[in-house]
Parts: sequence; structure tokens; C-alpha cells
Amino acid sequence: MVSRVIPVEPFDLVIFGGTGDLARRKILPGLFKRYCAGQMPDTAQVIGAARSPMDSDAYRAFVAEAIREFSPSRFCENGALDGFLACLEYVVVDARGTDGWDELAQRLGPDRVRAFYFSVGPGLFGDLAERIHLHGMATSESRIVVEKPFGHDLETARALNATLAEHFHEGQIYRIDHYLGKETVQNLMAIRFGNVLFEPLWNSQYVDHIQITVAETVGVGGRGEYYDRAGAMRDMVQNHLMQLLCLIAMEPPAKFDPDAVRDEKLKVIRALDPVEPHHIVRGQYGALDGEHPGYREAVGNPRSTTESYIALKTHVSNWRWAGTPFYLRTGKRLKARSSVINVMFKDAPHSIFGPEAGRHANLLSIRLQPNEGITLKVTIKEPGPGGMRLVDVPLDMTFADALGPEGEEPPDAYERLIMDVIRGNQTLFMRGDEVEAAWAWTDPIIGGWQARGEVPKPYDSGSAGPDDADLLMKRDGRAWRGITP
Ligand code: NAD
Repeated sequence: MVSRVIPVEPFDLVIFGGTGDLARRKILPGLFKRYCAGQMPDTAQVIGAARSPMDSDAYRAFVAEAIREFSPSRFCENGALDGFLACLEYVVVDARGTDGWDELAQRLGPDRVRAFYFSVGPGLFGDLAERIHLHGMATSESRIVVEKPFGHDLETARALNATLAEHFHEGQIYRIDHYLGKETVQNLMAIRFGNVLFEPLWNSQYVDHIQITVAETVGVGGRGEYYDRAGAMRDMVQNHLMQLLCLIAMEPPAKFDPDAVRDEKLKVIRALDPVEPHHIVRGQYGALDGEHPGYREAVGNPRSTTESYIALKTHVSNWRWAGTPFYLRTGKRLKARSSVINVMFKDAPHSIFGPEAGRHANLLSIRLQPNEGITLKVTIKEPGPGGMRLVDVPLDMTFADALGPEGEEPPDAYERLIMDVIRGNQTLFMRGDEVEAAWAWTDPIIGGWQARGEVPKPYDSGSAGPDDADLLMKRDGRAWRGITP
């Protein structure tokens, strides 16, 4: 199936931190793919703005290199790369100083959408917002894109919201959570609200429990210093996992419009119960001989008590979900890279086939990565003679097989989200009150384990995490689904 691409209006996009890792790996290759798809017009202008001294030609060479490394080679055919590079400029800018700002202001075209992407450390977000304003670049068509982390706790998130609000109104602020740009995540809403099949069952009467797993095989890598101050709860749960939980648990919005969707997500966050201490398991990965150091060595902090793994159980206290637990887990150096939401339905209330046929519950499995897609497990009769025995079979839809032209990978989240910024669609971005509500839930959990002086449990690299996480489920008579690629 060929996807329909609607070109966006000509725009100016300034990438602060245009020479950084995120720009190189995601933002610029993503823009290039949109250019190749015909969505980004030739008259659009992308301006890299960072501290590194270089001119626009050197920046084009830098971007060409990044695209060769991070975009599939077929996109570099037919002179597309040259066309894209012609849209690029570079300005040396110091976010905390005065250098480069006047030049940047002069490069921007009048009367067109201006997007300012803050792909720099969070300590610079306020400086950038202030200077964009000071130099007269903030027009009614201007918007800013803010990367994670959005604050370290409720207090810092509130302060950051207040700083940004001094220069931009909420409708101009795009807080990015790239999980929301994933095709499957949007499909979650299509499945829930575009079909009559699931919604009548989407409640505690039919759903036994929900598991959300985001498992990574990588360690903390070069982010050790930041990560050791954050940990899995702040780095992953407060944003990505909570956003997924919201989309699973929210009520149907009246319209697929930004505030209608975000109002419903906010209600979910506000309905989350505090988490009991014995419903939290934190872990830290160990070394793997000859392959990589353990967590403490990787972050250079031999006494670190920061978690690289967390599993927890929570409840959404409202009519729809009362009594259905949500189990969340995420960690680094686990056995496979796998992000998946499993909606585990209850058993049929009564088996007409007798105990020898076996009992099977339905499962809806939503895979975010890798192999984005959806599997519904249904129960059928095991084929052949020998009586009635039941088995589970998957109804599987892998998006790449079902929808994509041969070999085409699903669009990266950043591609989608950047185009949404240009189009002015905030549906897949977090609103300020949502972020604050998420911190308001997270802070007491973190404060609790700090006050109790708890130390994370060690776990083997390449495992499924600490054994206690299995116990968390076992105590409820349940089990995690396996972490498989
Ligand atoms: P990075 O350190 O690789 O790049 C930082 C960029 O900021 C560089 O271009 C640098 O020149 C520029 N910069 C630094 N100080 C500056 C100043 N005073 N004035 C102007 N420019 C300055 O960082 P990164 O990994 O690209 O991350 C950027 C942001 O994105 C961070 O907020 C990070 O948390 C977030 N983020 C990164 C990733 C990722 O995969 N790298 C993923 C999610 C979120």
C-alpha cells in the first residue's frame, strides 16, 4: 500500500544543538526521509545552530555524513541528497551569550512557520527561549520543540514551564516524547477508537491486567553522568511508560484533537494510585566478563544506588479500571530489545469443554519495537481427532508486512513528530500540566525509596532483570510475558 504524503508549507527550522548526537542520528536523517518522500518542500530552510565553529558548507558535509550513516542507502539516490543539502545553513550560536543571534535572526524568512528545536542539554532551554524572544524571532507562527528530560522533579518541571511560558504560550510549546510518534502507539488509538471490537471489553470486567515492558540491551553508554542522577524511573517511567499507560487507560476523547486527547491522558495520570513500597522492584546490572562493565563502573560511581531497572505495580482508580493492575517494567542490559504492551484478558467465565480441554485467555500484544505490530491471541480447537483440546493461535499483523511497500521500514518517530510541529498539530506532544502531573505521581515514589535508604538489587546482564520482579507477579498469581526480540 502506498502511503499518501501531503507536503507541508515552506518553513524555517532552527536546530539548536544541530551538531549533537540526536541531530545527527535522528533529526537530520528523519528530515531527509521526509524530503525524499516529497513532504518537505525545496524552499524549506533548516538551520543548524550550535557552538562548534564551522560554516554552512562544512555543516552540509557533516550532515551528508550523518545521513549516509543513519539513513538507508536507497534514500541517497537520484540527487535527493544534494537537493536536501541545499536547504541547509549553519550559524555559530552561543545559547548563553550574544554570539550569532543577530545573524540567525536575519536568516529567517518572514511570514512562515518557524520551528526552534531545542536539541541541547536541558540547562539551556530557558536561555534559548529568552534569546529567541529578545532577538525578535518569536512571531505568532513560531513554535519551540523541547527535548527530554523535562525537569528532574515536580519543582524543576514547574520552574521550566514557568520560564518557557514567559516567552511562548502553551500552543507554541511542543514537549517531545518520541514514544508518542511511533506508528504502533498511534495505532493503539486507531484500534481502540476505530473498531467496535475492543472498546466494550476494555475495562476491568474483561481485562485481567496490563503489562508494559520497555527492555533495552544497551547499558548507560556515554550518558553515565546524566543517567546516574536520573535512573530508570525518571529517564523512562515518568515519561515514556506513563504515556503508554495513558493511551491504554484513557477514556475515548470526543475528538482526535490535541486538547481533547491530552485532557483524557491527564485524567488517567491524576487517577493513578500511589505505589506501595512492596510493589516496586529496583535493580542494577552487573558486569559481563570481557564484554562490558557493570552499572556502577559504567557511571563511575562505586556506591551508586541509582536503578538501571524498575518494575512496579499500580492502579488507575476509576470506574473503568478499578481492580485491574498495571504492571510496568523497564531496564538496561536486559536479554532483548523489546517494547511491548500486553493486554491480558480474563478467562472465559465458564468452560463448556471441561478441564481436559485446557483454559486459555485472550491476549492483545502491541509491539512498539522491534517489528512494530499487533498480535491478538485467540483460542481455537487443536486440529485433528482425539477430542476437544484448545490451543492459542496468533492473529498477527506486522505493519511492515501488512502495509508497507516491499522492504519499506515504518517511519521513524522523529520524522512524524517534526512534521507535526510544522503542521502545528500538538496531539502527540505532552502538555505542561500532563508533565507536572506525571512528576507529582513520580516524586513521592522516588522520595519513598530514598527515605527508606533502599539499594537496588543486582541482576545479571542479559537476564530478564532481578528475580524479585518475578515475585511481584507471582504473589498475584501472574507472570511476566517473556522478553523476546
Ligand atoms: P550532545 O551533547 O551530543 O549535543 C549537544 C549540542 O548542543 C551540540 O550541538 C553542542 O554544540 C550544542 N551546545 C552545547 N552547548 C551549547 C551552547 N552554550 N550554545 C549553543 N549550542 C550548544 O547532546 P544530544 O545527545 O544531541 O542531546 C541533546 C538533547 O536531546 C538533550 O536534552 C538530551 O537529553 C536529549 N535527548 C537526546 C537523545 C539522544 O539519543 N542523543 C535522546 C533523547 C533525548
